[in-house]
Amino acid sequence: MKVLVINCGSSSLKYQVLEMDNEELLCKGLVERIGIEGSQIKHEKIGAEKFVLQTPMKNHKEAIGHVMDALVDPEHGVVASMKEIGAVGHRVVHAGEKYATSVVIDDDVIKALEECTDLAPLHNPANILGIRACQEMMPGVPMVGVFDTAFHQTMPKEAYLYPIPYKYYEKYRVRRYGFHGTSHRYVSKRVAELMGRDIRDLKIITCHLGNGASLAAIDHGQVIDTSMGFTPLAGVAMGTRSGNIDPSIITYLAAHEGKSADQILNELNKGSGIQGLSGVSSDFRDVESAANQGNERARIAEDVFVHRVKSYLGAYFLLLNGADAIVFTAGVGENDKAMRARICSRMESLGVKICPERNDVRGREALISTDDSTVQVWTIPTNEELTIARDTAELVG
Ligand code: ADP
Repeated sequence: MKVLVINCGSSSLKYQVLEMDNEELLCKGLVERIGIEGSQIKHEKIGAEKFVLQTPMKNHKEAIGHVMDALVDPEHGVVASMKEIGAVGHRVVHAGEKYATSVVIDDDVIKALEECTDLAPLHNPANILGIRACQEMMPGVPMVGVFDTAFHQTMPKEAYLYPIPYKYYEKYRVRRYGFHGTSHRYVSKRVAELMGRDIRDLKIITCHLGNGASLAAIDHGQVIDTSMGFTPLAGVAMGTRSGNIDPSIITYLAAHEGKSADQILNELNKGSGIQGLSGVSSDFRDVESAANQGNERARIAEDVFVHRVKSYLGAYFLLLNGADAIVFTAGVGENDKAMRARICSRMESLGVKICPERNDVRGREALISTDDSTVQVWTIPTNEELTIARDTAELVG
């Protein structure tokens, strides 16, 4: 079965087609600037040249139309007709407490996702737009929703409840949800395979460190804690997000800067993290090179990031009562050997020892710890799309 995977943002849409008989990636692409001037689709049939088309796209439905044109194009396409697409898998950010696994999308599912919209106002509306556009353009094709929050639904109450009046959980479901679940699920399963062990026998800490960053403590295959919270603003410092701060800072700054709480929150989401601290960039490569050239604030931004990630690693070691494996993934985790080494430095007391030669890798699966490290440390490129396609094929097939 061929599966189309859709990851829809408010003005962008990423897609892939996979042949699930052998899990082969056939093509991938990106539609940008949907509904704004300069819309374009970049399409790549694997092994062939990229194809770029600039054309106005007023909405997601038109964008899906162009994706479908690219998929059946005699030159760049991967199917003779859309009838070959057996199912569509959609990445959806927030499913609240409703779904702990992926599900086939029907009207009830869409309603449940709409009810979660105020929990993820930037993401869920776009995800729903993508689902509706596909339903209109590909009638009769089954659709599956794969949720960023789902994998974390195994967290126990003591991990997901905030110590605030309980009525707010009852009234509004204010709690920790966690995100990047599809990535944490993929790399935890994959590290167990690579170790030749059953995930049900392992204690794993997964570090998804990209522009957005989160860690998860996974006990015998089940998440017991994760660093993101009610929203993806919580946890470690990120590219532009602050991660955890004392909430009193919001009202303090609002009063002193003559801004609203919303404006401060916007700064915590979009102008903080390593960008806010360094004043250089939200991209770790830029900050690292500035730090190497002696930029003090860039160095401090990196130090804060490392400190925060280490704090979670330490906490998760304790919550898991030790760990068998640590996995690094996403942009920084897969590519940045210096950051991996810094995060894992001075952890010998916990049995973590990085091997500099093994750590000299980027963008591929590798064991990066020494043979006498009691905790195995791995870098594993994440593959959320493959996970979405697998869930989709399994549920539909
Ligand atoms: P997201 O999916 O959250 O947007 P990614 O997982 O793609 O983010 O990670 C993007 C980040 O990865 C970039 O901001 C960049 O800082 C970092 N990154 C990518 N390649 C490297 C590299 N070679 N060295 C250091 N950082 C890198």
